[in-house]
Amino acid sequence: MSRERIVTGKPVTEEEEAFSWSLRPKTLDEYIGQSAVVKKLAISLESAKKRGEPQEHMLLYGPPGLGKTTLAHIVSKEMNARLITASGPTLNRIADLMGILTNLDKGDVFFIDEIHRLPTNVEEFIYPAMEDFRVDFVVDKGPFSKVINVPLKRFTLIGASTRVGLLSAPLRDRFGISYHLDFYPPEDMFKIVVRSAEILGVNIDKEGGQIIAGCSRGTPRIANRLLRRSRDYALVKADSHITAEVAKKSLEMEGIDNRGLDDLDRKFLRIITDYYQGGPVGIEAIAATLAEETSTLEELVEPYLLKIGFLTRTKRGRSVTHETYKHLGLPFNGSVQESLFD
Ligand code: ADP
Repeated sequence: MSRERIVTGKPVTEEEEAFSWSLRPKTLDEYIGQSAVVKKLAISLESAKKRGEPQEHMLLYGPPGLGKTTLAHIVSKEMNARLITASGPTLNRIADLMGILTNLDKGDVFFIDEIHRLPTNVEEFIYPAMEDFRVDFVVDKGPFSKVINVPLKRFTLIGASTRVGLLSAPLRDRFGISYHLDFYPPEDMFKIVVRSAEILGVNIDKEGGQIIAGCSRGTPRIANRLLRRSRDYALVKADSHITAEVAKKSLEMEGIDNRGLDDLDRKFLRIITDYYQGGPVGIEAIAATLAEETSTLEELVEPYLLKIGFLTRTKRGRSVTHETYKHLGLPFNGSVQESLFD
């Protein structure tokens, strides 16, 4: 079953993509948080520029919506080069890839999102392109087939992945640089909300900003989306000003609680508390009860619940924690709290 979730780090509509575009930091200075990655990347870019060489191939991994695509844009801008984007699952024809690679100029950035989903034959075709800047193209079949060796310009491949564990070792090894993006802490999320509000000309006070930041699951894309919903709510119901009260009401209307959990998260947790005495239980059993794909739960529900300590994962399965019971209000009467913000 696929449901539309407001708290997913993945882009939901094209219209939202266009909106995200206006909020996307254009330089490393504008990029908030992830300071360890930003520092290392700044040095690497500076060094590449001084050597007059393209940036090394880079792998960026972490949950969706944390700024991987944004970093790829920043790298291409810093290198004064073009950015060509593609996505792993749609890059399924060697001929398409060949077309892209042979058109790249020196220093161009080729960004492949969801690189763990590249078909194997395409992945293998990329190896010599990454390593030696050449591709071996086979023409004809059978006894008349021959390999044509095509040299490429020195480009930079940036791969992004939300499931780095699924990346093959040979592909992973071919990236000179690999950066992990983690969920943003509340103070960075607050800065991101304030920055976006300024760009959008939204009137928001400090408490309102803190509430939106706290409900955004450490994910900038979600913060921007929630800010937009609160702005709409404020426009219609509250004089265009986002106060704490307005932020809470608008989020509550969307079914989001004070930790940023939505209906799917709470159902996920309630299955473990109600049917499995708190766990451990296998992910397949939870997925079957929820009629969801295991991969959806692993990618879009579990990472944040693990991060905030509402879930633990062992070989025996998933378990909830004391915090989970407290959050769901279960010790009192065995049912969820009436107001999401109490
Ligand atoms: P990913 O590629 O990891 O899914 P994106 O790079 O598309 O994520 O980022 C989603 C949105 O979040 C962007 O449009 C941008 O507005 C915002 N964003 C991401 N990282 C930052 C950051 N460090 N500072 C400010 N805004 C950010």
